[in-house]
Amino acid sequence: MSSPERVYSYSATLMGSPILLKLFEDNQQAARAVFRLIKQLEDLLTVNREHSQLMNVNHAAGRHHVVVSEPVFELISQAKAVSLLPDSCFNLTIGPLVKRWKIGFHGDQVPSLSDIQSLLPLTQPEKVQLAPSSCSVFLEQAGMEIDLGAIAKGYIADRVRDLLRQMGIDHALINLGGNVLTLGSPQHAMQNAWGIGLQKPFGMPDELLGTIEVVGKSVVTSGIYERYFEQNGTIYHHILDPNTGYPLNNELLSVTVISDDSIDGDIYTTLLYGMGVEKSLCYLSTLPHIEAIFVTKSGEVILSSQRQFRFTLLDTDYHLA
Ligand code: AMP
Ligand code: MG
Repeated sequence: MSSPERVYSYSATLMGSPILLKLFEDNQQAARAVFRLIKQLEDLLTVNREHSQLMNVNHAAGRHHVVVSEPVFELISQAKAVSLLPDSCFNLTIGPLVKRWKIGFHGDQVPSLSDIQSLLPLTQPEKVQLAPSSCSVFLEQAGMEIDLGAIAKGYIADRVRDLLRQMGIDHALINLGGNVLTLGSPQHAMQNAWGIGLQKPFGMPDELLGTIEVVGKSVVTSGIYERYFEQNGTIYHHILDPNTGYPLNNELLSVTVISDDSIDGDIYTTLLYGMGVEKSLCYLSTLPHIEAIFVTKSGEVILSSQRQFRFTLLDTDYHLA
């Protein structure tokens, strides 16, 4: 019989990221089911290939409605609602700008101002028409493109959690490359919480700024060091400001959100990133289920209320504010 304290790790590369599943039993079948589910959802939601349900919607922009499956419809609806929040920097129709910048992909370079200005009118969330009765989506203007890159992993992590629970697994960790979701506590006599590493911005991949301890929570980080390029000494990163068409520029290096659901973590990392620290802390005081860690360019680590996590700072280049 296997010891309950032993950790079994399973890995795969999906969605362009290393995926890690940790269980406390040797259960290859569960791991295979998890990776199959991730692949199925990726196949529906990706915009990095010519074909997916989402790409069918994009290809039909300005022409006709496209019927999509329920999860895709649900996710697009949620992304539209978040995009329409007052002062939201989240914009599900950011696709044309993301494609033009190609940040983190071959050939990335700063587009001309006239290119950016010509693409901005294509990023209008209110022009995403949703017909719930037929589960169909229509982009009103030719050239519009939905990009769910900011929330797809969060959504998928939550579906993995549902699947693990259905299989009777209550203690596990899934890491979708930046989105970590934990089920219960680690089944380990010496460890009553999961320790999740927060990467040091622009450090080596295994260099940690600190650790975040949680039980049964999602931990999602959005950082400008995750995908970027440098041109003439300026860093251009992958979170774009829908008002200007350029990368969001403020005091932040990263935002980490601790929440129950990973979709919330994914939505709020982007929203809070756009708000900056001061506004975010004010906003978070009205959201008891969402907590956050901000890392600033001046080396400060700022924590919201800490009901759902414990943070330990490890790197001396940074200090707790
Ligand atoms: P994340 O890794 O969750 O921070 O999401 C970053 C990804 O979201 C980018 O690579 C783009 O695909 C997409 N994205 C960039 N800017 C925005 C934005 N303002 N609103 C929504 N999605 C965005
Ligand atoms: Mg996100």
